[in-house]
Amino acid sequence: MRKLFNVTLRQVQSDIFFKTVRFRPVSTWLPSQSRQAQSDNLILKLFYSYFIIATLFLFSCGEQKNESSKNLESSMNNVAEQYVKLVLNIGIYDSDYVDAYYGPTEWKPETKSNAISDSTYIQSLYDDAGKLLDTLESLSDEQADELQTLRYRFIYKQILAARTKVFMLAGGKLSFDEEAKALYDVEVPAYDSAYFQRIVDEISKLLPGNGNVVDRWQEYKKQFIIPTEKLNAVFQAAIDECRKRTLQYIKLPAKESFKVEYVKNQPWGAYNWYKGNSFSVIQVNTDLPSYIDRAVDLAAHEGYPGHHVLNVRLEKLYRERNWVEYCIYPLFSPQSFIAEGTANYGLDIAFPGDAQMEFEKEVIFPITNLDPSKVENYYKISRLLQKLGYSSIEAARNYLDGKWTKEQTISWLQKYNLASKERAEQNLKFFEKYRSYIINYSLGRDIIQQYIEKNGGTDDNEKLRWALFEKIISTPQTPSGLIRK
Ligand SMILES: [Zn+2]
Repeated sequence: MRKLFNVTLRQVQSDIFFKTVRFRPVSTWLPSQSRQAQSDNLILKLFYSYFIIATLFLFSCGEQKNESSKNLESSMNNVAEQYVKLVLNIGIYDSDYVDAYYGPTEWKPETKSNAISDSTYIQSLYDDAGKLLDTLESLSDEQADELQTLRYRFIYKQILAARTKVFMLAGGKLSFDEEAKALYDVEVPAYDSAYFQRIVDEISKLLPGNGNVVDRWQEYKKQFIIPTEKLNAVFQAAIDECRKRTLQYIKLPAKESFKVEYVKNQPWGAYNWYKGNSFSVIQVNTDLPSYIDRAVDLAAHEGYPGHHVLNVRLEKLYRERNWVEYCIYPLFSPQSFIAEGTANYGLDIAFPGDAQMEFEKEVIFPITNLDPSKVENYYKISRLLQKLGYSSIEAARNYLDGKWTKEQTISWLQKYNLASKERAEQNLKFFEKYRSYIINYSLGRDIIQQYIEKNGGTDDNEKLRWALFEKIISTPQTPSGLIRK
């Protein structure tokens, strides 16, 4: 067995999962428990007793709390600063890793020192991450309020993901599901082909003609392609509408803005590059045709109330609370699960029910000169297609775990994601580059939806839906934390 960091791969791996499985964010604020003895049930009990204790505590010794709270804040700030520097240093080895950074320039490493070999340097990063986790765990007897608890949990999971990233950079191997759990803080559900086939059969009934469903779908949707010369006008109209709807419920700084660029040869459909100071660059990939609903999808996902708004809100935590962990965004971390989940579900928040279709009929179709008369059926199919999102996760899992060849994966995506061959090939490139990141879209969306609906943000309560959505994008959140609530 190969040695890594002087311990075997298995040890490193189980160590990662020990941290993932055993971490009990809320209970850590109570007198230390034997980690081995804790169970999820116990944690739930501790969670509630924490609130009782915290309430009693508030009444009995407010001043003492203030002092303890300051100490905790200062310890957390210290860990947060080390975490940011750790992420910047990991970024030396993967240019995709640091997705956004607008913190102090002097923290940015030029590159690692030439005097140190890569393996020594990577090992030191791994050790640094471990020490930060130890420091956080040593704070277990502190008293904390809800926001501090959320912050603690967020930083802990982010560091855990950073350490997993270092482990992978060092050649450590994890299965798709292990990787997704260690990086994104979630268990990924599995679906078999029969599940997808039932949805494909439903779609088949809504399409004209006979024969292969993917061919009929590809042919059918040609009537909804946005003409290239209308693309920008359509996107601008969609952005204006998404912004208007978001501003009714979420306050944004007056100076916030973004720029749209059209690019080619990318493995993704669109990308939000957040630059800080409430400014984003949104790139739209035009390699493949854009269909009528893409404009609103992208404007909501990349812009309002999606990535752009989330980033503006997180930057506020950095600038106003001085929480430095929010001056950086490591792509392969739980933060991305929240970001993609809110960006996807943000569309449903901004356009409940048939609102997207109604807006497109009224505003987008006239710009494109396309015929809106058949759009109802197109939307019925689109809703079913959304359920096929999990077929991409199955494809990535089997491909990255080495169970399927490229050809098998492409053919699966055509069959159960109804993707064109070109789209399937683009997806495959995405899997190769971003690996288990793919789970963040469909699973992220569903977890955000479940959280919002479970907390009363149902379709008939628009105000609460927006309030819960705003809370998720404006406070430190973790996927496992949202699932538990
Ligand atoms: Zn996204």
